[in-house]
Amino acid sequence: MVTIEEALRIVKDQKISLKRESKSLGDALGYALATNTVSPFDVPEFDNSAMDGYALCGLCQEYQLVGEVAAGDSKDISLQDGEAVRIFTGAKVPQNTTAVMMQEKTSVKNGTLYLDEMSKIGQNIRKKGGQLTEGQAVFEKGHLLNPPSLALMGSLGLSELEVFSRPQVNIITTGNELVKPGEPKTEGQIYESNSYAICGALQQFGFQYHQKTQIKDDFEATKAGIKKALKSCNVLIVSGGISVGDYDFVKQSLEENGVNHLFYKVFQKPGKPLYFGRKENQFVFALPGNPASSLTCFYVYVLPLLQKLSGYGNVGLTTYQFPIKHGYENRFGRPSFLKAAVVDGKAEILDGQGSSMIQSMAKGNALAFVDHGEVLKEGDLVRCKLIS
Ligand code: AMP
Ligand code: MG
Repeated sequence: MVTIEEALRIVKDQKISLKRESKSLGDALGYALATNTVSPFDVPEFDNSAMDGYALCGLCQEYQLVGEVAAGDSKDISLQDGEAVRIFTGAKVPQNTTAVMMQEKTSVKNGTLYLDEMSKIGQNIRKKGGQLTEGQAVFEKGHLLNPPSLALMGSLGLSELEVFSRPQVNIITTGNELVKPGEPKTEGQIYESNSYAICGALQQFGFQYHQKTQIKDDFEATKAGIKKALKSCNVLIVSGGISVGDYDFVKQSLEENGVNHLFYKVFQKPGKPLYFGRKENQFVFALPGNPASSLTCFYVYVLPLLQKLSGYGNVGLTTYQFPIKHGYENRFGRPSFLKAAVVDGKAEILDGQGSSMIQSMAKGNALAFVDHGEVLKEGDLVRCKLIS
C-alpha cells in the first residue's frame, strides 16, 4: 500500500520518450507544442488604429480632412500638421499620425473635422511590436495549445505546428454481472456504466479511446483480453476485478502478460485497490469497479499520466481552495476525495459518499480532498479539484 503522494510521484516520475507529429492549426487544440516558438515578426507589424475615427497630425482643435484609410488598405499616406484622415479599426495609421480620435468625439462640417476634446499623443494607436517583437519567445516546448494559443499561432502565420503525439488508450471492463445499456438483463445483473464515465472523461480532456472490450470474470478470458488490448495501445485502462475477491483476476492476468506493477493499493477513499503497472513503454491502470472509485481514480491518477505522455508541461487537475459551507469531519479512516459541489465560491460536501454512488458525483462538480481525521469548521478552506 502506498500513500496518495507516493502514488502520484510514481505516476509523474515515469521515464518516457515522447513522439512528435505535425498538426494543422485547426486540428491542434489540446496538443502540447514540441518546440519553442519565437515570433517571426513584430506583432502588430505596423502602427494601426484601435478605433473607428480620425487619424490626426498635430495637436489642434480642427483639422482639414484629406482622405480615408480602411483596414487592409496598403496605400502610404503621409500627413502634414493640421491634417486628418478618416480611419477604421485595424487600418494602418498614416505617417506622422499623432493620435487617433474616436468618431463619437468628433463632428465634420464642410470638409473640416472638429474635436469635442483635445487628443493625447499616441492615443488609440496600437504600436508596432506592442504585443511581441521579432524574435521574442512566445511559447516554450510543452505549452498546451488552448484556443487563445491557436489564435496567437495563427496571427504569427503558422499553419502547421510541431506537437507531441497523444497516447492511444484501450479500455477493458470486467464483470459477469455487466450488461450493455439498452440490452435485456436478468436478475442479479446490472448495466455496465464505468466505460461511459471513462470515455466521457477522456473526451473531456481531448483524449479518445481506440478499443473498448467487455470481459467475463474468467482468468483465461481476462488474460487473453489483456494480451489483445496491449497490442494496440500506450495506456490500458481496466475497470473492476482488481480487488481481493475470488473472481478478481486482473492483477494475475497483468503479471502473466509481463506487466510489472509499480504500485497496488493506495491509502485513500474511494479507490483503495488501485493498480498501476508498466510493460516497457506501455502503462496499465486497473481501476476498482465501483463507479465513483473508478472515475475518481481516473481524474486523480490516470489523467496526469495521459497528459505527461502528451508532453504537457503541467499535468493533473489544478487544486483550488474554497471555504467550506458547513463543518465536516473525515471519519472514513483514510484520506478522502469527496464528492462535492462548488457553487458561488463555496464548497459543499455532498450526501452519498459511498464508492458505488455515482449520483452524488453526477450532481456535483468537484472532488474535495479532506485528510484522514481532518476536522473542518464552516468557512475553513478545503482543497478541491474541479471536474466539470
Ligand atoms: P469489482 O471491482 O469488480 O469488485 O466491482 C466492484 C463493484 O463495482 C461491483 O458492485 C460491480 O458490480 C461494480 N462494477 C464493476 N464494474 C462496473 C462497471 N463497468 N459498471 C458499473 N458497475 C461496475
Ligand atoms: Mg468484478
